[in-house]
Amino acid sequence: MNANETALVTGGNKGIGRAIVHALARRGLVVYLGARSPERGRSAVEELRREPGLDVRFAHLDVTDPRTVETAVKAIEADTGRLDVLVNNAGIAAGWDVGAADVTAAHLREVYEVNVFGVVTVTSACVPLLRRSGNPRIVNVSGGPGSLTFLSDPDHPLTARASLAYSSSKAALNALTLIYADALRADGIKVNAAGPGLVPTDQNAAAPFPRGDRTAADGAVVPSLLATIPADGPTGVFRGPDSLDDV
Ligand code: NDP
Repeated sequence: MNANETALVTGGNKGIGRAIVHALARRGLVVYLGARSPERGRSAVEELRREPGLDVRFAHLDVTDPRTVETAVKAIEADTGRLDVLVNNAGIAAGWDVGAADVTAAHLREVYEVNVFGVVTVTSACVPLLRRSGNPRIVNVSGGPGSLTFLSDPDHPLTARASLAYSSSKAALNALTLIYADALRADGIKVNAAGPGLVPTDQNAAAPFPRGDRTAADGAVVPSLLATIPADGPTGVFRGPDSLDDV
C-alpha cells in the first residue's frame, strides 16, 4: 500500500488512464484525475468515488495548455504540499490511415503537442512538487510502436503497424524518458516508460489492425507497477506487458 502518497494521472477520464487512476487509488494513494474536459473529468471522478475508500480528485488539465497545467499543479500544492507520482498518460493517435509519405508537418505537430510537448509541460510543472517527495516517480505511458529496435526490423509485426506521427512521437517520448531519468537522478526522481500492450480504446478505434482483447485494467498493470516502485527501484527503463517480472 502507498497510503498518504499523492499521484497525478493525465488523461485520466477514460481508457487506460482511468484504469491507472483506479489501480493507484485502490493502493491507497490520493489520486488527481487530470482531464481536459471538466465535464468528462468530474463524471469519471464521481463514478470512481462510488467505490468506498477511493480518494480520487479532479484536476482540470489540458496538457497542451500550460495555463491549465500551472493552475492544476498550484491547486495540488495547496492541497497536499507535494506530489509522489506523475503518470504522463494522455495521448492521441490521429490519422492511422495516412501513409508516411502523406503525413504533413501540421499533422505531426498535432500529435506531438499532446504526446511529446504536453509531457514536457506537465513534467516541468510537476518536478518542484516531486522533489518534496521521499520517493518520487514519473511514468511515461509509451508503447512498443516507439521502439527503435522494433522499427528497425522490417519483419517485426509492430513495424507493419507503424504510424509516422504516433510511432515517432512515442520514440521521442522514450528518449525524453531516458534523458529525464539521467537529469533527475540526483533529485532521486525515477523516470520510466511503460507499455500497456494493445487495448481496444477510443485512441485506436480507427486503427487498420487487430486491436487486441486486453482490458483497460490489463493495460494499467505495468504503468501502475512502475508508479509504485520502491525508492531503490529502477530508473530509465521501458517495461512492457511481457516484462512484468522485471518491474
Ligand atoms: P483513450 O483515447 O481511451 O484515452 C486518451 C486520454 O488522453 C483521454 O482521457 C483523453 O481525453 C486524453 N487526452 C487527449 N488529449 C489530451 C490533452 N490535450 N490534454 C489532456 N488529456 C488529453 O486512449 P488510451 O487509453 O488507449 O491511451 C492512453 C495512453 O496509452 C496513451 O498515451 C496511448 O498512446 C497509450 N497507449 C495505448 C495503447 C492502446 O492499445 N490503447 C497501446 C500503447 C500505448 P478526452 O477524453 O478529453 O479525449
